Amino acid sequence: MNVLVLNSGSSSLKFQLIATDLGRITENKDERLCRGQVEQIGGEAIVTVHTRSGTRQKSTASLFDISRSLEYLVRWIASDESEIMEVRSPSDIHAVGHRVVHGGELFTESTVITDEVLKGIEECIDLAPLHNPNNIKGILASRQVFGPKLPQVAVFDTSFHHSIPEHAYLYALPYHLYKRHHIRRYGFHGTSHRYVADRYRALRAVTEEQTHIITLHLGNGCSATAIRGGRSVDTSMGMTPLEGLVMGTRSGDIDPAVVNLIARKEGLSTHEVDALLNNQSGLLGISGLTNDMRVLLQESRDQDHRRAQLAIEVFCYRARKYIGAFLACMGAADAIVFTGGIGENSPDIRARICNGLEWAGLRLDDSRNKRMVGLEGQISCDDSSLHAFVIPTDEELLIARDTVRCILSERSPRVEELRIQ
Ligand code: AMP
Repeated sequence: MNVLVLNSGSSSLKFQLIATDLGRITENKDERLCRGQVEQIGGEAIVTVHTRSGTRQKSTASLFDISRSLEYLVRWIASDESEIMEVRSPSDIHAVGHRVVHGGELFTESTVITDEVLKGIEECIDLAPLHNPNNIKGILASRQVFGPKLPQVAVFDTSFHHSIPEHAYLYALPYHLYKRHHIRRYGFHGTSHRYVADRYRALRAVTEEQTHIITLHLGNGCSATAIRGGRSVDTSMGMTPLEGLVMGTRSGDIDPAVVNLIARKEGLSTHEVDALLNNQSGLLGISGLTNDMRVLLQESRDQDHRRAQLAIEVFCYRARKYIGAFLACMGAADAIVFTGGIGENSPDIRARICNGLEWAGLRLDDSRNKRMVGLEGQISCDDSSLHAFVIPTDEELLIARDTVRCILSERSPRVEELRIQ
């Protein structure tokens, strides 16, 4: 089955075409046929595509909306330029899988998109006003380009965390705010945490019930998840992706009283403070330099840049603090799994986070850690009682696989049945 995976943003459309089916999923032999993105949709858009053989093609085109961008991409996929012999016309694309940011309390798993499901995604707009409307546009554009008969599946960033218990997802706010406005912790990056947990299971040959791990997705956005018996039991992100770890430009945890204080002292609206916490904080905010961890590591080494060093210290300390907290919540774990751009590629950051976790039984193997860059494998000593692994994430692959699984099982629950009273 050729599955087109779409991630639609406000002015961008990212895509991958993946050949997969139940056999390939079992054997981990899915094939990525091409990938790319359209940026600056709305005018002269920039189209970047990577063919199967790895060549990169960059061009510009007047693309006014997501529908036209998708049409353009599908035409390219079916052309000789894409080098994909299996797809000669749009009908050779058998399904579309969409990344949808917020499924709220309605969607606890990936689902085939029906009109009813679309209404449910619309209901969640309040919870993710910047993201869900764009995801809906992507779904409607696919209906327009491929026709209403092509199966489409929604895979939610939040749904892996639906198993988090009430005592972990409730904020200690007046309870009616939860009932009235659904204010609670939801968690994000669920597709990534679930993917690496699946791969960990395969690597270690353990069952879902035996999967007790803490996954650390460290990229531009960062989150930690406590996984017990294969299910998410707590995660660091909350109502929005702002809570938790220090990120590229997001603050992570702060005292909520600080919002008012900044507003008063700096003469900003709460809306502007929100933007400051999301876009000007984190690694960028502390260092005053950049949100790019590679540059921070370089500057802290070569130039002895004090604030770059400080940003890295705060980043690693917060990650270690969450590991400690999750170990306490879970009782024990078998491994910590690193993923995301930083987690997959920076032995230095992994070592700094793990340094000080010897009390928990973690002993990092320095040479394994140094070697494991963009690769999958163990980085702890064999006699560690708490292991550490690096597992590169692949959210698009999980979306493609869920799309296949949902279509074959025709999983499309009625939203009315899902609604939590
Ligand atoms: P992501 O959002 O998963 O693409 O991750 C982006 C982050 O990964 C950025 O902060 C990059 O600086 C960081 N990153 C990528 N490669 C490396 C590396 N070799 N060392 C440290 N950080 C890296």
